[in-house]
Amino acid sequence: MKKATILGVGTELTTGQITNKNASWISDKLIPFGLETSMQLTIPDDRALILQALDYCAQNSDYIFVTGGLGPTSDDFTRDLISEWSKKKMQFDEKSWQSIQVRMTSRNLVVKDIQKQQCYFPEGAVILNNSQGTANGFQMEVSTAYGTKDVFILPGPPKEIEAIWNESIAKWLFVETQLFDKKLTKAWDTLGLPESEVAEMVEPCFEGRWPDLKYDVGYRVHHPYVEVKFSYYKSQENFAKAIVEKIDKVLEKATALKNFADITQAFAKLTANAEFGFYDFVSGGFLHHRLSNELKKYKNWVWKESQQPLDTDFFAHEENFIALFPQDENIERAVVMGHFNGKSFTVELEASLKSPLMIERRKQYFAEMALITFVKNLTNA
Ligand code: ATP
Ligand code: MG
Repeated sequence: MKKATILGVGTELTTGQITNKNASWISDKLIPFGLETSMQLTIPDDRALILQALDYCAQNSDYIFVTGGLGPTSDDFTRDLISEWSKKKMQFDEKSWQSIQVRMTSRNLVVKDIQKQQCYFPEGAVILNNSQGTANGFQMEVSTAYGTKDVFILPGPPKEIEAIWNESIAKWLFVETQLFDKKLTKAWDTLGLPESEVAEMVEPCFEGRWPDLKYDVGYRVHHPYVEVKFSYYKSQENFAKAIVEKIDKVLEKATALKNFADITQAFAKLTANAEFGFYDFVSGGFLHHRLSNELKKYKNWVWKESQQPLDTDFFAHEENFIALFPQDENIERAVVMGHFNGKSFTVELEASLKSPLMIERRKQYFAEMALITFVKNLTNA
């Protein structure tokens, strides 16, 4: 399997001021291409260390992704170091200079000479257009002591990396990795069972497996879910299929979602553009927290939330709504009601964790179940 390394440059990263999100984002994007991340390094704005780190990356991977330090200020010198490291002279790119000017003037900003710095690229580099910022990225083959490596140099801001990725890198990788044996992953998000119990159910599915099957199985708690993940190689898909079927069967009752489906997006997709009422007398903020990114998708919405007993005409005016009510003081049981496009449902829910110490877990569970139940009952309404 070909390997990638990701080198995050920036003193703001090593001082803990910001978290290196780019590394995890890129690693995650590489998986479907069949590329494994062998290392993620984070290095301050220190020339000697960055050069050492580049060598270390070359020693340990075929593809190197460098993020940060492409800006116009004196602490941005990644491009100069790549030129030094690759022994390729810098060349001015007139096209990049033009697009900086267009971008700045269209935003009523003054173009500064210092920004010319962002238009120099090592000889032979392929420039990667950045539609979200002024610093274009670039890509080049670098011959190192450890062989020829494909190196990608990207700006720091995550949304700029995403833009460059979608426009250029994903397409390049698609062609580059066409003949690679890709790693495939199936996932099950279970609800209501502790991790140990889920593992106990899943482990026997691997017994008596085809002896040469290369696979990974992993468990991850992300409340209220316990996620099970099974990865295998495309070339062994036929053998893996039997295992997927077994896991499907043993987890049938506990599975709430499969293959990384996001219930908040499914809920918003189903109900978007509607006038919508949200009535939550159970979750104490969990439901709102989960939907906060999606709320701007509604034409008009009201949110009513309380941990107090409710008044009677709480949703008098709303046609479309989701509502969550407690059924007992300890919040062991709850009722979720929904109404959408003329169809309604009411479902009673019961939490499996009953300890008074786990009341917050139950609230979180009911918030999640409210969304799942709504989507299950009112899809195709
Ligand atoms: P700019 O032109 O914006 O200065 P740059 O390419 O020089 O871009 P940096 O100066 O290294 O990039 O970082 C700019 C900003 O991008 C940082 O202040 C930070 O908010 C964000 N950023 C940089 N690196 C990362 C990272 N690894 N993870 C998350 N955010 C990052
Ligand atoms: Mg910068």
